[in-house]
Amino acid sequence: MKTSVHGLHHVTAIAGDAQENLDFYVGIMGMRLVKKSVNQDAPDTYHLFFADAVGNPGTDLTFFPWPAMPPAKLGIGFTVEVPFAVTRGSLAYWQERFAQTKVAFEKIETRFEEKVLPFKDPHGLQLALVETDDARQFVPWEASPVPSAHQLRGMHAVRLWERALQPTEMLLTQIMGFSHIGTEAGWHRYGVDGGASGKIVEVKELPQERRGQWGTGGVHHVAWRVKDSAEEMTLRNAIVQAGLWPSEQIDRFWFKSVYFKEPGGVLFELATDGPGFERDEKLAQLGEQLILPPWLEPQRQSIEAALPPLEMPRTQM
Ligand code: ZN
Repeated sequence: MKTSVHGLHHVTAIAGDAQENLDFYVGIMGMRLVKKSVNQDAPDTYHLFFADAVGNPGTDLTFFPWPAMPPAKLGIGFTVEVPFAVTRGSLAYWQERFAQTKVAFEKIETRFEEKVLPFKDPHGLQLALVETDDARQFVPWEASPVPSAHQLRGMHAVRLWERALQPTEMLLTQIMGFSHIGTEAGWHRYGVDGGASGKIVEVKELPQERRGQWGTGGVHHVAWRVKDSAEEMTLRNAIVQAGLWPSEQIDRFWFKSVYFKEPGGVLFELATDGPGFERDEKLAQLGEQLILPPWLEPQRQSIEAALPPLEMPRTQM
């Protein structure tokens, strides 16, 4: 049976200070904090989820703020950039907004015939905005400081560095349902389910490069969409057959997850589309309270005491 993922579900990265992280993604980028939770494996650390108004799969960039960690080192086996989709004509708005809010950005580039504005977040995470007409599962957030026409539509792609292209390409094309779309400037672009915005991965082969290292400003893992638990387990089985070592299925409460390292060393996750972020909070109140999965609820008092205080940002218009 042909197995496939269906595009990006979320990307999780490591940030420095939690308040700086929140101020940037909500106050400047205009994303909505759709969930304020804790790292389920290290509950003295926040897990902050930034997305569109409703937390659609594919819009969600999440962070573990670990200010004591050293900065990430870019290298092979690493996600080196997370480009976001914006509508055509939006880059001019963003150049002006970045200039006003003192966010450093680079020159506009053309990649695969798309206009791209690369920039970094305050802790060094490499991001970009890509103009696209592709339809996206996206709901604008009314309270955003960014007008809905220019809000981030979700992640457009992820860019990986690898020592060798071929083993990663085999996994992408034979197990995960991707096909090769094109190659430009050393970047190999693969797409799944037609390869529109949000269904793209780009891989560059750098045989001489050192290995990347997790740290602040680095991507921790990339999660790919699967429809449901049954599809996830079918894919998990195919990953085992391919000689890789996936985790058991883990209940993340808002979705079910399986983790595995792709052959080049990038940590991938499969994540189900449901149940979603409205499982434990009303849509209007998403992100307002510290949400714990039910099994951590008995420890709420000590968990809350260990976390640094966090205030909603003063949004920058
Ligand atoms: Zn994840």
